[in-house]
Amino acid sequence: MKVLVAAPLHEKALEVLENAGLEVVYEEYPSQERLLELVGDVEAIIVRSKPKVTREVIDAAPGLKVIGRAGVGLDNVDVEYARGKGIEVVNSPGASSRSVAELAIALIFNVARKVAFADRKMREGVWAKKQAMGMELEGKTLGVVGFGRIGYSVAKIARALGMEVLLYDPYPNEERAKEVGGKFVELETLLKESDVVTLHVPLIDATYHLINEERLRLMKKTAILINAARGAVVDTNALVKALQEGWIAGAGLDVYEEEPLPKDHPLTKLDNVVLTPHIGASTVEAQMRAGVEVAEKVVKVLKG
Ligand code: NAD
Repeated sequence: MKVLVAAPLHEKALEVLENAGLEVVYEEYPSQERLLELVGDVEAIIVRSKPKVTREVIDAAPGLKVIGRAGVGLDNVDVEYARGKGIEVVNSPGASSRSVAELAIALIFNVARKVAFADRKMREGVWAKKQAMGMELEGKTLGVVGFGRIGYSVAKIARALGMEVLLYDPYPNEERAKEVGGKFVELETLLKESDVVTLHVPLIDATYHLINEERLRLMKKTAILINAARGAVVDTNALVKALQEGWIAGAGLDVYEEEPLPKDHPLTKLDNVVLTPHIGASTVEAQMRAGVEVAEKVVKVLKG
């Protein structure tokens, strides 16, 4: 049985495929044209966020049984069409949770202690001791919006830092909340009472611009907003205003409504925001886990 690995995959994941006796064809990010040539005789395709597994690709692979996406989002796979043809689509949604959670915590510390700002000043030869006055986290309240895999992991770490934890999720899991000593409240209460608000919801109709001008105005003037979920969960224009006019104290962002973030975007002009280029899942461990998990699922489908 033949598997096309069409994106970079950790060697441990390749071992899983090979140890299962599968023939592995490895070509990172082939063009769509080349992909059509490669899939003719494969039973499985493994991709990341690229390349695109379109209808055309699926039709060009008559023996295809399973499509594996190492990672979470399935935007690049025509899932409905594949499943309609009896082809399984598998991914590895939990593989990067801890990494994204740790990045959210890194952003919280960074904004609270103005690390990036102080570093920039040092490089300009400025000893910005007074301007870099920060906020301690112990005893402060963290509001977690979206208490799923990542939200849970963030809450667990925050608890260990001595933070109080408030949670908002339309599908509350009370047992997990108890584990992290968290309390479910309404979104408005969470926004009003939290010193740090961190977003871990999926981007769906109900969460598009969930954090808008009205909700930003509910937050404390001293509060920090973290977004490592999806850019469009926050109304960026409203956030820029909030940061410029001091409705909130700062923000840490890993995701944007437009990615890559345009070079001269107003966010890049603000000192009270820390920006990272969508690197939540970018750790060696998350990449390995994503690859291995998806390889195991692909093997399971192929071996029945
Ligand atoms: P998850 O499905 O485990 O958890 C999402 C939670 O959000 C669920 O508990 C769900 O009930 C809740 N939710 C749904 N609608 C809501 C709403 N309207 N208000 C509040 N909560 C709501 O997902 P996860 O694995 O924890 O991932 C969360 C998000 O993180 C993903 O959707 C993805 O967009 C993002 N993510 C970002 C990166 C990155 O690199 N920055 C990497 C992976 C995932």
